[in-house]
Amino acid sequence: MILTPEYIFRRVEAIRPEFLAQKGIQALVLDVDNTLTGDGSQVLEDSVQAWLQEMREAGISLTIVSNNTAKRVRPFAERIGLAWVSMACKPLPLGLMVARHRLGVKKSQMAMVGDQIYADRMAAGLYGIPCLFLLPRTPHDKARSVQIKRKYEPHWIRRYYEKGGKLYE
Ligand SMILES: [Mg+2]
Repeated sequence: MILTPEYIFRRVEAIRPEFLAQKGIQALVLDVDNTLTGDGSQVLEDSVQAWLQEMREAGISLTIVSNNTAKRVRPFAERIGLAWVSMACKPLPLGLMVARHRLGVKKSQMAMVGDQIYADRMAAGLYGIPCLFLLPRTPHDKARSVQIKRKYEPHWIRRYYEKGGKLYE
């Protein structure tokens, strides 16, 4: 099922270069809100900055695909020096197609990183790439549409654990 996570990480910083190497993942498509920072936030935490640097040093290509507006995404993306797609309409996989061309990798070499089952996990599933699912960075979501979708996420997360999935810390 394309909604049950394949992997769950506590935070983006828990994604380690060794894990990616083991899975043959050379490129990551990153969500922004509640993935790299809080919802609607421009704060760049030191730990996230260090993680981005670590990924670059490990030779991992990075790009941003967000459902939020250019006004919100652009300042953050420019600050961390990444190309970006805004208004991506995840779970539609259009933004991932753009990202793959930008990254210049095969589908088997890339993964989506994000915190929403009905956006990030589903887009990855529809596009046919793995999702490195994250627990949301903060408990706050501004968009009402996101708040509604959150109510239906625990079911899929429970299924992950029932199938023997572990939380990557
Ligand atoms: Mg998000």
